[in-house]
Amino acid sequence: KELTEINALCDEYLRLSYHGLRAKDKNFNADFKTDFDESIGKTNIIPQDIGRVIFNLINNAFYAVNEKRKLLTNNYQPIIKVKTRNLNHRIEIIVEDNGNGIPQNIVDKIFQPFFTTKPTGQGTGLGLSLSYDIIKAHGGEIKVECKEREGTEFIIVLPA
Ligand code: ADP
Ligand code: MG
Repeated sequence: KELTEINALCDEYLRLSYHGLRAKDKNFNADFKTDFDESIGKTNIIPQDIGRVIFNLINNAFYAVNEKRKLLTNNYQPIIKVKTRNLNHRIEIIVEDNGNGIPQNIVDKIFQPFFTTKPTGQGTGLGLSLSYDIIKAHGGEIKVECKEREGTEFIIVLPA
């Protein structure tokens, strides 16, 4: 573990994801937004591991807004937002999208290894299970909140 600037890490992985995703689909554009709590400072983490979790969550968010965009032709602006929050003794990193949300009947399964709703070749079902293990190894928690058809919010909680 090393003392890591959380906001800078989020920014770095947001850029990495953005460029990776744009390279795959040049026509598609989503608004990538940040809302960083400037008081957050440095936290003791394995930066590559937490970065990988952020990257996984942004990739899932991008997939979700892209699916929604295919169904809705007008008046839909895809938004992916990364936020940080400094709370007492813990910090939160939040990845939010305005995709279709996660149906109630599968939300309990999404952290299981190999669970995917994506077509063969597009998803391994390992992103969230790996993310879960990384966050647990940091003594933290990963939670999901979603509103069907309105979007999804993944919340990473880490000890400060
Ligand atoms: P994969 O992305 O390979 O399918 P993940 O473990 O990353 O595997 O995600 C598992 C499943 O959780 C996805 O297939 C999808 O059904 C659901 N999911 C994850 N993130 C989102 C999201 N932001 N919006 C809607 N569904 C999501
Ligand atoms: Mg994934």
